[in-house]
Amino acid sequence: MSAAVALGCLRATSHPLQRAGAWAAAVMAGCERPDQVGVSDLDEVAARIVADACRAAVAAKDAPAYDWWKVLFALYPNAKVTHAGRTRDEDVLRAALAGMFAPDALDGGTWPCTFCGTDASALWAKSMLPMFDTNKALNTLPPGVAGWPVCRGCRVAMWALPYGSWVTAGSATVLSCEREGAERQFAERNVQRARRIMHAGFTGLAAGARPELVVLRALRGVGPELCATTLWSFKNDNQDPWLRVTRTRRAIPRFLAMVEGNAPLRRGWRLLELALTQRDKSGKVAAHGAAEAARLLFEAEDGRSRSVLRQVNYLLREAEGTWSPRDLSDLARLAFTYAEEILGMDVDLMPVATVIADWIEHGSGSPRGRLAEYRSVALSDYKLGLLLVQAHGRLWFDGRPPQAGPEDWKPLLQQRSRAWEQRMLLFASVSKLLVERGVAVNEKPVDAQERERTERLVELPVLALDDDDEMGAA
Ligand SMILES: [Zn+2]
Repeated sequence: MSAAVALGCLRATSHPLQRAGAWAAAVMAGCERPDQVGVSDLDEVAARIVADACRAAVAAKDAPAYDWWKVLFALYPNAKVTHAGRTRDEDVLRAALAGMFAPDALDGGTWPCTFCGTDASALWAKSMLPMFDTNKALNTLPPGVAGWPVCRGCRVAMWALPYGSWVTAGSATVLSCEREGAERQFAERNVQRARRIMHAGFTGLAAGARPELVVLRALRGVGPELCATTLWSFKNDNQDPWLRVTRTRRAIPRFLAMVEGNAPLRRGWRLLELALTQRDKSGKVAAHGAAEAARLLFEAEDGRSRSVLRQVNYLLREAEGTWSPRDLSDLARLAFTYAEEILGMDVDLMPVATVIADWIEHGSGSPRGRLAEYRSVALSDYKLGLLLVQAHGRLWFDGRPPQAGPEDWKPLLQQRSRAWEQRMLLFASVSKLLVERGVAVNEKPVDAQERERTERLVELPVLALDDDDEMGAA
């Protein structure tokens, strides 16, 4: 960190890309926060950005170092360093880029910086700024203006961006979070990862890791206080740019702390992670369960995202035979805790669940057949209503007065908020009741060896990648 007099040349603004870049620059400079970055720190970071970019731009197409060029191309497709006709002489290219991060000449004409408002003398074309290039961009230039005024700190930040974001060969993801500590941890992790991509290429990283997992770990690192996060993923392609925004609810840090601090919940979450692990034909992990489970806590703006409840429900309904009574109980508990903590639901489904469990246990025919019947209608409001009426009548007829009536199950069947979630929780409750009563409904016996393997895996910590860390893979 430089002398106090030179500070204040870098600010983290509320623009998500500038902000991610400012955190990256702070990490690269070894500073705790962006506002502690001094002029000489900025010099060093700028020099490193240029050196890394030039090395990548002249690398052979099959060299690992070329992967960093792909990252730059995805963010700045029209910049000098990514241009198809660029020189392949590293020194010439470095000289061409040297002016990018030159100090602002404050004695001439200046304008307020587009991002932070500081006096800026440089006008940057859209080609230098990610997501500024097309109709779908976040910003457009006012008519008659030659370029965007961008101060030196923000110019460095906008090119430190790929270091602070979770990048792939074609996209980048940045984090905005109410807790700065989490933003810093996310940037720290990605700066390390960027270094690895430059040296070993993307194949040097394990497949299947995800930015959502890095975010959850960062949230765990800053404590259980309520805070919201937003992930912005984008591609700045000339033809088909896109931006995808996902968010977590503010109660997520508290929920994570509860999961970690409570053995049945932790076990339930691990079961979820294990069930979501996917392997390719050779047995290598293609999708890490921990990363896939982390995604379930992020909600897409367009509503097209899976949720923890939906996934647990799917596991209970589709893979029923593979769960031990303890598994079922832990998964059901996880679902209820999620509903209560994250969705704010407070429902007592036991009376209705008892009606269905009684009917499955004592009705005519086999319990297995009746469970299959319930499973097939469990999420349908109309069909579940018919089944409940049938079960209710049957129990009366058999001289077992039912524990609940139509008034109790009405909230589950109406077209109102959370009715669908209640039906999913009802299924978890029924499954748990049946197991507690020892009603034999398993369709296939659980393989003992498989069971033992699962028991070993389920004891591992949550939010960890299954094999090794992503960056320890190579
Ligand atoms: Zn600025």
